[in-house]
Amino acid sequence: RRRLLEEQRDLPAITADGVLIHLRANIELPDDTNMVRRINADGVGLYRSEFLFMNRPDIPDEEEQFLAFARVVEQMEGAPVTIRSLDIGADKGLRSDDAGVHTALNPALGLRGLRFCLRRPEWFRPHLRAILRASALGPVRLMLPMLSSMGQLLQTRALVSELQAELRTEGHACDEEMPLGIMVEVPAVAMAAHYFAGQADFFSIGTNDLIQYALAVDRGDDDVNDLFDPLHAGVLAMIQYTIAAGHARGIPVAMCGEMAANPAFTVLLLGLGLREFSMYPGAIPEVKEVIRQTTIADAEALAARALSGEWPVSMGGQT
Ligand code: PEP
Ligand code: MG
Repeated sequence: RRRLLEEQRDLPAITADGVLIHLRANIELPDDTNMVRRINADGVGLYRSEFLFMNRPDIPDEEEQFLAFARVVEQMEGAPVTIRSLDIGADKGLRSDDAGVHTALNPALGLRGLRFCLRRPEWFRPHLRAILRASALGPVRLMLPMLSSMGQLLQTRALVSELQAELRTEGHACDEEMPLGIMVEVPAVAMAAHYFAGQADFFSIGTNDLIQYALAVDRGDDDVNDLFDPLHAGVLAMIQYTIAAGHARGIPVAMCGEMAANPAFTVLLLGLGLREFSMYPGAIPEVKEVIRQTTIADAEALAARALSGEWPVSMGGQT
């Protein structure tokens, strides 16, 4: 592994037929950027900002959040940093009772992620202000988790504009053009990707949740683990459709769920049209090695077979 890392570090992620692929990192804490730099990833594709709120009794204020985001942006030295707005609720609980999201009967279908934030402007406003202030220091992209409706995207965009104006009057700098993208992790959003692509600046496919919701399989329940199937033809169709709809409108489409980190799926994902992957930094060397040995034509042939349900069987039962 160490040998692979050293060999791969400075090689570009280019397919055997010359197509450039972006390999970005998923991080949870500002210090994870050390590993990202060691691996030489193409920026941060998912910063799970809720980790700043977890495992503590209180809530970080705007200044503390700003300092954490600023640190990540500065550490990345000009490479893009995709900050996901708070995704608490369901599997990502808080110790603080302030959130009040633990009592729902179906927490994964309840008040989590963006739903929670829009319901709690006293949390969301300082959070977005901290992200906006960090956007003055380098290329920051804001990504919304658990989005299910267009109204949520428009409401968030309006709030971002309002806060940009507020910061301007206070004399704070921020990037007025900061891209606002969405995670595609609700099946109906994937199937309506053509519609969301008209309003979002980018997509990132969150397969951990997308597969959970598409197959009705709790991502954390060991009893149904064997049914959590990334190669299900229905899941692959949603992924393919999301990528195609995003690219048709000219917006970048990434994948930041665990599926993107598994080298056994890399060729398939290239064949489904994916050109941007985000994963835990340690997975990047192996995925890069697969990319460098693959042609897009071969990848597309494999994807065609997988979409028809053929590939997992002929590969010896990957599912
Ligand atoms: C996902 O759902 O695929 C994802 C990347 O987000 P998380 O695992 O943090 O829910
Ligand atoms: Mg998710």
